[in-house]
Amino acid sequence: MEHLSQTLGGVIGTLPLVYLGMPSWAKSGSIDIWNPILEKCEKKLAKWRSQYLSLGGRLTLINFVLDALPTYMLSIFHIPQSIVQMLDKTRRNFLWQGNKERKAFHLVKWKNIIRSKVQGGLGIKNLKNHSKALKVKWLWRNHQEGQALWYRVINKYEELNKWVTKEGHNKGSYKVKEGYKQISLGGIQDLKWPWKQIWRIKVPHKVACFTWLLVNEAILTQDNVAKRGISLCNRCSLCGKANETVRHVFLHCNFTDQLWQIFLNLRGISWSMPSKINETLFSWEMAGVGATNKERWRMIPACIWWTIWMGEKR
Ligand SMILES: [Zn+2]
Repeated sequence: MEHLSQTLGGVIGTLPLVYLGMPSWAKSGSIDIWNPILEKCEKKLAKWRSQYLSLGGRLTLINFVLDALPTYMLSIFHIPQSIVQMLDKTRRNFLWQGNKERKAFHLVKWKNIIRSKVQGGLGIKNLKNHSKALKVKWLWRNHQEGQALWYRVINKYEELNKWVTKEGHNKGSYKVKEGYKQISLGGIQDLKWPWKQIWRIKVPHKVACFTWLLVNEAILTQDNVAKRGISLCNRCSLCGKANETVRHVFLHCNFTDQLWQIFLNLRGISWSMPSKINETLFSWEMAGVGATNKERWRMIPACIWWTIWMGEKR
């Protein structure tokens, strides 16, 4: 045996062994085979937990961790619901809690967060859909390359097979990213959601993430804190005249209005402030039709809101 191992350049191991990160004794339907994935995900996120990161930074890392996980597991095996829940819990806690010791408020529902950006989410991957998109890659290759053993193994995923049979006539290359989009409600845009005004403007990522929170009205203003069972005297900390709600602080407060007026006066625009954050983004876009520098005009709401919130926090 030793002679063979030297000739072939291999290492002699003992059973049970772990092959390609997967325990050889585990059955395909068993939960145990997912333990290495759970551990890897937790370990990676724990490494960054000690650092101070903005919501935008934590979002980037969550997506990075999923990309770094071994995709062969997700692309071959059915991912059990209990594993999806555990991975989601780890990702969710990291997103909201970061390096904080005590529990943080989860300000937006997870099912909304895992939607794509055009559908109002943060683009964190839906694991079930991601796993399906990866499996489709194998099916697609079968249509290009003919029947193979791995195809027969994976063929039990009827629903995916039908989709590939339908789409596979278009002899193109399959991209997991595109497949994921199709599986996630066909990537259809939510027209009431101002995704371009949030993500397609030239502001730092953390500022765009803050605007996203704001459109969800999920900033910890005093009324939102009160809704979560903490009693306090609810007064706007800028003007002291009204209750501190997202819409008041960021749109209608007299103090905030002065900032909006600076930019509106520059272009001599008469403006009536909409009642909601998302409506404001759409209206602002319309008001910028004749602007000499449209890109700069589109940045203004996000910059005003970020400035207000940074001032509030101080
Ligand atoms: Zn006020």
